[in-house]
Amino acid sequence: MSGKAYLVGSGPGSLGLLTLRAREVIDAADVVLYDQLPGEEILSTLPAGAELIDCGKYGSNHTLEQHEIEDLMVARVREGKTVVRLKGGDPFLFGRGGEEVEVLREHGIAVEIVPGITSAIAVPECVGIPVTHRKYASQVTILTGHEDPTKPESALNWELLARSAGTLVILMGVKNLPEIASALVEGGKDPATPVAVIERGMRPDQRVTVGTLATIVGQCREAGVRPPAVIVIGGVVNLYDGSLPAE
Ligand code: SAH
Repeated sequence: MSGKAYLVGSGPGSLGLLTLRAREVIDAADVVLYDQLPGEEILSTLPAGAELIDCGKYGSNHTLEQHEIEDLMVARVREGKTVVRLKGGDPFLFGRGGEEVEVLREHGIAVEIVPGITSAIAVPECVGIPVTHRKYASQVTILTGHEDPTKPESALNWELLARSAGTLVILMGVKNLPEIASALVEGGKDPATPVAVIERGMRPDQRVTVGTLATIVGQCREAGVRPPAVIVIGGVVNLYDGSLPAE
């Protein structure tokens, strides 16, 4: 077995924020298994000579099941190929990168992990919002909004999150934003807490909606906000610079 596997982060979607190491391993790949999250600007630069496999895991529209992606990676490495698994942002922040590495290791396959710039920090940053700031937040909590907070089996403690100081950064939270906002207010968070929702960060069609815990749900409904978006909750949102250009 001479193949090798790389788990690679693409950054938030602009080519300038792809790392040099990511570029190097992508360009040398025989096979690239990619999600849609890296975005068109990066996906359009995948090597034409490689086998490009759209894993299309986006929202509920799954092109390949998780086990099929893992099986394909294992099979191609066993054929002696250099395989790149390309994921949005950083490969170890949500998105099941950790699970994929576990599977490869179980099969005795060596994996190099190439970190990426995570959207959780970079997307707010690019509209002027620092996730920490001496005046507003000395801690930041990054969480998935994928789970409905009203479900009893939720792995997140929303009461604790409501009481915790600092910034909350929520990924995959657009669908459940109404439940999330109510859970936080019910847990005791001030309804006047500022919230920013940044859709398609660092893409040409980036859009930012800014409000408070009390107003953001109505604003997002009105604006037709859709994933992918990063939700930032906390005083740091006051530093949003609405005059910054989209790119
Ligand atoms: N590993 C990724 C996160 C995967 S979870 C990372 O480190 O960035 C997928 C979620 O990431 C999306 O639902 C969205 O909340 C967020 N996301 C990723 N890229 C984004 C972008 N360019 N703009 C807005 N949100 C983004």
